[in-house]
Amino acid sequence: MPRSTVARIDLDALRRNFQTALNRAGGAQVMAVVKADGYGHGIGPVASALDGLAPKFAVACLEEARAIRETGLVQPVVLLQGVHADADIEECAQQGFEPVFHSFQQLSWLERLEARPAFWLKVNSGMNRLGFHPDELAGVMGKLKAISADKGLLGFVTHFACADDPESAMTAQQTSVFEQATSAFPGLMKSVANSAAHFHPDQPMFDWSRPGIMLYGGSPMVGKTGPELGLEPVMSLEAPLISTRMVPAGESVGYGASWVADRDTRMGMVAIGYGDGYPRHAGTNTPAAINGQRIRLIGRVSMDMLAVDLTGAPDAKEGDSVELWGRTVGVDEVAACAGTISYELMTGITGRVPRQYR
Ligand SMILES: *Cc1c(COP(=O)(O)O)cnc(C)c1O
Repeated sequence: MPRSTVARIDLDALRRNFQTALNRAGGAQVMAVVKADGYGHGIGPVASALDGLAPKFAVACLEEARAIRETGLVQPVVLLQGVHADADIEECAQQGFEPVFHSFQQLSWLERLEARPAFWLKVNSGMNRLGFHPDELAGVMGKLKAISADKGLLGFVTHFACADDPESAMTAQQTSVFEQATSAFPGLMKSVANSAAHFHPDQPMFDWSRPGIMLYGGSPMVGKTGPELGLEPVMSLEAPLISTRMVPAGESVGYGASWVADRDTRMGMVAIGYGDGYPRHAGTNTPAAINGQRIRLIGRVSMDMLAVDLTGAPDAKEGDSVELWGRTVGVDEVAACAGTISYELMTGITGRVPRQYR
C-alpha cells in the first residue's frame, strides 16, 4: 500500500473558477495560464479539463507547451517567455505555439526562417522585467516590416507589477503607458490582465485576459483569501496521521526542540514534510484540519513528517486523514503563516505526492 499522502484535485472546481474568470473578463477572451505544471495541479489533466472552455493556453516555456500537445489538445499555446534558442521557433510554427518576443535577439531569429509562427510582442510598461520599452516599439515594427514578419504579429502583451494591491496607482499607470505605446498600431490585439486585474472594477481588459492563480482557487489579492473572492479551492493536500502520543508539560517536540508543551498535550505525527513541498517555514500555530476540525502545527516541519496539536480534535486517531490545505483550511491561510503566497505552495508540491483527480 502506498502512503495516503495525496493532492486531490477537483477539476469541476477548476472549471467553475475558469467561468468566474470569464464572467470577470469584461468581454475579453480568456487564455488559461497552466505554466509550472498547472500551478502544481498537473498540466495534462488541468488543460484537458479546460478543453472546450479555454480557447487558448499560456505557459512559460516550450517544454510546457509540448506537454499540452502530448495530451492531444490542439488549442494555440502562448509562450509567455518566448523561446530561448532559434531552433525552437520552427517548432512553434509547426505546433501552433505563439511565442511572446521581448528582445531584438528573438526577432533576429525570426529573420532567418521561412516558416514563422504567429507571435506577440511584450511591452515593458513599467515592471522592468521583460519587454520592449515604449520608445522602442516603432523601431521594432519597422524591423518586422523589413523582414516581412509583421503579418505574423498578433498583438501586444504587458504584465502588471502591483495588481495584487487595489490601492496601488501603478496598475492604472501601466495601463495608460501600454495604451499609449500601442495606440500607433491599430488592428492588433492587446492583453494585460493577470488574475488580480479581474478584481479591479475599472480595469480595461482589452482582447485577452490571462488568469493563472484564480483558476486554482488561490487569491491574487493581498489581504483576501480565494473563497472571499468567490473562488473555490481546487487542491486538497492530505496526509495520514501515523502516530499519536501525550507529550507531558515541559517536554519538547521535534528538531531544535523549538516547541515545548506548556501543559500535557495530545499530539500527532502527519506523514508529510518539506520533502513533499509542504513549507518548512510554516511554524507553530499554522492551521490544518482533521475530520473537519481545525488543529494547529507545533514545532518544526521535518522532511517527511510534521507534528500537530490534537487538542482541537480529541477523537482523532492513527490512520485518520489530515488536510494541510483545502476546503477547511485555505491555502492562502497556510501561505500567510509560511510568509509566502499560495502560488509558491501549490507549485512547490513535489513529485513524491501523487495527484488524484475527480
Ligand atoms: C504567470 C503569468 C500570468 C498569470 O498570473 P496570475 O497572477 O497567476 O494570474 C499572466 N501573465 C504572465 C505574463 C505571467 O507570467
